[in-house]
Amino acid sequence: MRLVQELAGVDLSLAITLASHQSIGLSALLYLGSDELKARYLPKLASGEMIAAFALSEAAAGSDASGIRTRADRDGDHYVLRGEKVWVTNGSRADLFTVFARTSPAEDGAKPRITAFLVERGPGVTTGADVETLGVRGASVTGLTLDGVRVHESHVIGEVGRGFRVAMEVLNRGRLALAGSSIGASKELLRLSVERVKSRKAFGRALSEFALVKDKLASMAADIFAVESATYLTTGLVDGEPTDYSIESAICKVVSSEGLWRVANETLQIVAGTGYMRDQPYERMLRDARLNLVFAGTNEILRCFIALSGMQEPGKDIQEASRALREPIKGFGLLSDFALKKARSALGRDRISKAHATLARESVVLEDGAAQLARNVDKVLRRHGKEIAEMQYTQRRAADVAIDLFALAACVSRTTRAIERRGEEGARREIELTSVFAGGAEKRIASNLASFDRNDDELRKAVAAKVCVDKGYPLDVI
Ligand SMILES: Cc1cc2nc3c(=O)[nH]c(=O)nc-3n(C[C@H](O)[C@H](O)[C@H](O)COP(=O)(O)OP(=O)(O)OC[C@H]3O[C@@H](n4cnc5c(N)ncnc54)[C@H](O)[C@@H]3O)c2cc1C
Repeated sequence: MRLVQELAGVDLSLAITLASHQSIGLSALLYLGSDELKARYLPKLASGEMIAAFALSEAAAGSDASGIRTRADRDGDHYVLRGEKVWVTNGSRADLFTVFARTSPAEDGAKPRITAFLVERGPGVTTGADVETLGVRGASVTGLTLDGVRVHESHVIGEVGRGFRVAMEVLNRGRLALAGSSIGASKELLRLSVERVKSRKAFGRALSEFALVKDKLASMAADIFAVESATYLTTGLVDGEPTDYSIESAICKVVSSEGLWRVANETLQIVAGTGYMRDQPYERMLRDARLNLVFAGTNEILRCFIALSGMQEPGKDIQEASRALREPIKGFGLLSDFALKKARSALGRDRISKAHATLARESVVLEDGAAQLARNVDKVLRRHGKEIAEMQYTQRRAADVAIDLFALAACVSRTTRAIERRGEEGARREIELTSVFAGGAEKRIASNLASFDRNDDELRKAVAAKVCVDKGYPLDVI
């Protein structure tokens, strides 16, 4: 993750290229592959002699992987793969693909069984030309056609029919690499912003002297601090005892990509007209940053995942909700099986240190927010039971509060350690950044918690339905 972070500071395309090889391309092999496959491929993948890619998405199957049509049919001790993948990062460079294909009948309504295969470039494997993209244009993104590709059964990764689980394991890692790339790009944008506000003059003063410019710099720094704290807390989990960190890595992906998007947007505002010019780096960095909101699971899907997985634990204690909670997750496509088995409260980690007394205000925000989130989740589960499946506004609120709480917990924990090591004066920067982040988080948490009870969800759904009927905006100016 540190490496991806460094590369993203230079160019996000570089970071995405590395992460698509290392974090999603080869990690199914590394963590779930057989010893024989590892011995055959890992040395070449480590040296760069071979490049890896991850091929899950298809034209009709992005967020909902159950829609994939690529098939793998058994033929003796081989499988024969046929299908088309889209948007494979590293496509033109890759020698080895982690490919997901259906190994169950394709009838409509049948529960799809997906299997992960390691496919070497060879007869029947073709990648198209690089597609033109909005950003990360230095990366290679192509289609992948599998035309009767024969793959030996020893190239199945994980169990036959359990490929979705493999994809989720891989994407948990991919999301952390993506968070690393967001941190690296954000830091570079802040550095460029500072360079600019110190050198550019307006009204006889440097831009850095204006309060509204200072406000942007403070928010950017606090955002980066929070994202970095949450992400390193999570990579600490990965490096520790084997544990499930799927909720945490989803939180890191959401908070880091949205943090980067805000930082890129504010940088463009600070550099203003210059930021719009193509001979400057800012517009490229803005375009590049847009990918992280979509890639490796969209932020909407991940919010639903965070909320529904996080609700499993409290749901267990509420008999009538427990069954109901399984329903929505069941209705949530293939994510259901995974979420049910891996459910865990993101805040229940013993790695989070007891807060230092200097951070009393921030700790109150954290404790009150956690208690109120638990109360609200308990209430909606009792009141709405099964309906929670369709209550995406509620899911988003719960996820947003959990995201803020996790990021704040990470800031408080990191700053507590810093105070213990360096004393309050030595940790002044961490204390201030935690305080700025906590101020914003407190307002967002209060607003999200209040709207559990008071909201216009139904009205908004009705307006959206009418917009669809009207095929867009229907009114004329009189
Ligand atoms: C540059 C680039 C590189 C990529 N590289 C790879 C790669 O290497 N390998 C790979 O496998 N894939 C790759 N992808 C695909 C990427 O992971 C998908 O774009 C992503 O998963 C979203 O799928 P989709 O674009 O089809 O969006 P859709 O699934 O069509 O979603 C469209 C919108 O609907 C929302 N939506 C969908 N379902 C729901 C729901 N249940 N509730 C609420 N909202 C919902 C989404 O959040 C989104 O806003 C790449 C994409 C890009 C752009």
